[in-house]
Amino acid sequence: SKKVKKAAAVAPSSGKPPVLPDSVIVLDHGDPTMFETFWRGPIGESATLVIPAWQTMSYFSDVGNLCWFLEPSFEREVRRLHRIVGNATTEGYHVLVGTGSSQLFQAALYALAPPTSDAPISVVSPTPFYSMYPFMTDFLNSGLYRWAGDANAFDGNDYIEVVCSPNNPDGGIHEAVLKSKSGKTIYDLAYYWPQYTPITHMLAHDIMLFTVSKCTGHAGTRIGWALVKDKEVAQKMNKFMELNTIGVSKDAQLRAAKILEAVVDGYERQPTTTAAVGGDANLLFHYARRKMTSRWRTLRDAVAASDIFSLPEEVAGFCTFTKDTAIANPAFAWLRCEKQEVEDLESFLRENKIITRGGTKFGAGRKVVRISMVDTDEAFGIFVDRLATMK
Ligand code: PMP
Repeated sequence: SKKVKKAAAVAPSSGKPPVLPDSVIVLDHGDPTMFETFWRGPIGESATLVIPAWQTMSYFSDVGNLCWFLEPSFEREVRRLHRIVGNATTEGYHVLVGTGSSQLFQAALYALAPPTSDAPISVVSPTPFYSMYPFMTDFLNSGLYRWAGDANAFDGNDYIEVVCSPNNPDGGIHEAVLKSKSGKTIYDLAYYWPQYTPITHMLAHDIMLFTVSKCTGHAGTRIGWALVKDKEVAQKMNKFMELNTIGVSKDAQLRAAKILEAVVDGYERQPTTTAAVGGDANLLFHYARRKMTSRWRTLRDAVAASDIFSLPEEVAGFCTFTKDTAIANPAFAWLRCEKQEVEDLESFLRENKIITRGGTKFGAGRKVVRISMVDTDEAFGIFVDRLATMK
C-alpha cells in the first residue's frame, strides 16, 4: 500500500496518459498543468483543505451580500491578492464569483444586453479573438445578444465589446477599440498576472473578469471572479447566476480561497525584494515567470533553428509588482509559418503529431496557429524538439 500511495503522489492530476518521445502532443487547450510542480512544493502543503461533512450544506454563504452565495473568505482573498499584485482596483467594486470566468462572461452578456430591444445586441472583439467567444455567445441562440465578429470591422453605436488583455491567442495588450458612449465593454483579464506580462497599470474598468484557472493554474476548481463597478449590473449578473446554477459550489470557493491565501501569505512572509536571495519556491508569480521566461527562450531558439516559423515580437515593460523590467511571456504562442507551400499550419503540425488550434477559429488565417505554453515540461520539451527540426 506504501507503493500505491507513492505512485498516486507522483501521478499527474490531469488523468492524461504520460507523453513519450513519439507521442501525439496535444497543445490545443490552455491546460495550465505546468503549475502543478509549484503546488507540489512547500506552499502547496499549506493550501491543503479538509472540509467536514456538516459544512457547506446551505445554499447561502453571506445573506447580507448582493452576491449571497459568495464565500466571505474567497472575497477577502481576492481583494488581498489584487492589493498585493496591483493589477486591478477592488475598492468600490462588487466581487462576484462564477463557475469559471466562463460563466461570468455569459452573466455579463445577460446583464449588459438591453432586455427589451427588437434585435439582439452585437457582441464583438478585435481579431484575433479568443476562439470561445463566438461559441459561448451564440450556442443558446439568444434573442438578447449575437456574435458579430471583429470589433475593428464593426459599424454602429450599440454593442458589447470584449477586450481580452493580454490577448488570447496572441498576447497583445489591448484597450477597447470602439468608443461609442452607449457601447458596453467587458474586460477579460484572465492573463493579467505577473507570470504572463509585466503589470503596468492598476486597471479600473466597469467589468473585469479573472479566473484561478490562469492565475494559479487551478482550472479544475472552476472558480472565476468578476469585479463590477455598477450595482445594477452586478445585480443582473447575480440574477443570471441564480437562474443558471443557484450559486457556485462553496467547496470550490473555499478551496480557491485557501489557494489564493497561500499565494498572498507566501509574499507576505517573503517580500519580493528577497526573492533573489531566498529562491522562489514560495512565490508563485516569481516561480511561474521564471518558468515561462525559460520556455519562451527555448521556443524562440527552436523557431530560429527551424527557420520556417515566426512569432510575435518580444515585448518588455516595467512591472510595478516586481519593480523591474520584465518581458511578456504569453500563455500561448501565436505561431506563423513563413513557408509558401504550407497553407494550413494546423494540418502541417498535426502531420508531425503536434495538435494545435488553427487561426480560423480566432478570426485569423490558416497560416497561423495557437499553441499552449502552459502544459507539462514533458509535453513542452518534446514539442520544441520536434519544432526545431521541422523544415
Ligand atoms: N477567458 C480567456 C481569455 C481564457 O483563455 C479562458 C480559458 N481558456 C477563459 C476566459 C475561461 O476560463 P475559466 O472558465 O476556466 O475561468
